[in-house]
Amino acid sequence: MNYSQNRGGSSFGGRSGYNRNRSFGGGSGRGGGGRGRGRHGDTLDVSLYSQTIDKVALSVIEEKKDFGTFADLNLAPEILESLTARGYLQPTEVQAKSIPIVLDGQDIVTVSHTGSGKTGAFLIPLLNQTIAHAKEGNIQVNLVVAPTRELALQIEKELMTFDLRKLRIGVQTCIGGAPMGSQIRGLSRPNHFIIGTPGRLVDLFNRGVLQLEYVDVVVLDEMDKMLDMGFSDDINLLFSKIPEKHQNLFFSATLDKKVQPTINRLSPNATYIELSQPKPSQFVHQEAIMVNRRDEKMDALFNILKSDNETDLKNKTLVFVNTQIMAEQIAAVLGQNGYVTDFIHGGKTQKHREIALKKFRQTQIDVLVATDVAARGIDVSDISFVVNFDEPMSYEDYIHRIGRTGRNGKFGKAYTLVSR
Ligand code: AMP
Repeated sequence: MNYSQNRGGSSFGGRSGYNRNRSFGGGSGRGGGGRGRGRHGDTLDVSLYSQTIDKVALSVIEEKKDFGTFADLNLAPEILESLTARGYLQPTEVQAKSIPIVLDGQDIVTVSHTGSGKTGAFLIPLLNQTIAHAKEGNIQVNLVVAPTRELALQIEKELMTFDLRKLRIGVQTCIGGAPMGSQIRGLSRPNHFIIGTPGRLVDLFNRGVLQLEYVDVVVLDEMDKMLDMGFSDDINLLFSKIPEKHQNLFFSATLDKKVQPTINRLSPNATYIELSQPKPSQFVHQEAIMVNRRDEKMDALFNILKSDNETDLKNKTLVFVNTQIMAEQIAAVLGQNGYVTDFIHGGKTQKHREIALKKFRQTQIDVLVATDVAARGIDVSDISFVVNFDEPMSYEDYIHRIGRTGRNGKFGKAYTLVSR
């Protein structure tokens, strides 16, 4: 099927006449004021939000890709068993390229985004090394640092799919917004994997409960995002306490002048792993919808929600906004118009975010409204539509957002509402 391209305006006609009882004010920029292009200066070129997908051509591209099998990668039988049980037979490109180099003990820098299988690209070889060392009576300590709680929990979940009890592998997750006591108790036991967000890890180190002198491997996941979020000092502190001889695995969606100096400083001899194609956009039909005024955005959103679902996926929509207040207001308007909806943003408790995500995963809600920060690490594999109600602040954010659909070779759609 060939989807028509639409650059100049909306392909949806008519007004939807939604219930306007609740007005939604405030700017679209961060902090609620102005258009907020703070971090990256200018608005993005509208053409970046458009891409027509030819499903037939896509299936041909898919067939050509073959990165061998996990059995080719020299992994321990216990790991192969778990992967097979999960139905993972073939590594994704990022896994096929990263795993041998990590197993060889080298530092890596991988440019990859969410949806590419990057979590497995570090967890699988690290687990393999850790099991091998455990058999010799040594504890390999792997410190995995992620920008958000959601991503940290997602990594933990992925690790838990291996039979860690049988493998005698200990894991402790250290994230903000969760009780400190259980994390402190957990750190008093020997752990092979410590997964956390920078602030909480530093906090636990300062309290004397996180011992960094035993760390063998450091993973920085979504490194660009961590630096963007202002975690530079925390990361520097962690690295200053880790033994000089350790292995670094860095993952970033971009390699720009913001990230590169930090990589050069922390890991000057790293092997760079390049992927052949940008991943998420390949499976995502992208469309910019021009709207004249802000209140037309809500009409455009309703039209998208009412449109035919031509994707391979369930009717599940993720709406991105730039402010917490906007997330709440849009969810409220959707609710008044009969949609089952919820919102997640950085101001909500961890528990609220987890419940909302679970409901979304189980299709108990149709529309989830989220800010970028809260949306990191959302692992809901069957989202049909991503709607950028507010334009993203950077192209990297855009790629992350639209990467929430079109996962695992399933075709999805992304709409960006543009009012300029
Ligand atoms: P990630 O980029 O790590 O967030 O992974 C994206 C999605 O792909 C997750 O739902 C993973 O569980 C899934 N995945 C990762 N590796 C594989 C694989 N080798 N085969 C099939 N699915 C995978």
